[in-house]
Amino acid sequence: MDICESDLGDCCGMSFPKKSSQGLCVKCSKLVTLEDGSLQYEQWKAYGQCESCGIAYKNLSTSKCGRCATSGMPSMPGDNTAEINHSAIEASCETRQNNPSTVLLFIWQLE
Ligand SMILES: [Zn+2]
Ligand SMILES: [Zn+2]
Repeated sequence: MDICESDLGDCCGMSFPKKSSQGLCVKCSKLVTLEDGSLQYEQWKAYGQCESCGIAYKNLSTSKCGRCATSGMPSMPGDNTAEINHSAIEASCETRQNNPSTVLLFIWQLE
């Protein structure tokens, strides 16, 4: 649901935590209505996009729109990202640790 995706591939494939609708993000769903390569298309493509909800504004100069920036302030003090990174590192360590034992077990079974 948070991923911008389409069967046709005319999506950006980005993840927007606050995206509320299935399928394309706001920017991509606007782009598909415009003629590929047209002036309007190029303009929309260059618009700044909120990384949280996927909305695009011509003059957006930050990575988040105002609504997401304010709503994200109290509950997301950056610790969240650190935690996600940490669990990602842990997960990759786990896979690394698991692999050799699986291989060893496989060899042992062969003998
Ligand atoms: Zn998109
Ligand atoms: Zn937003």
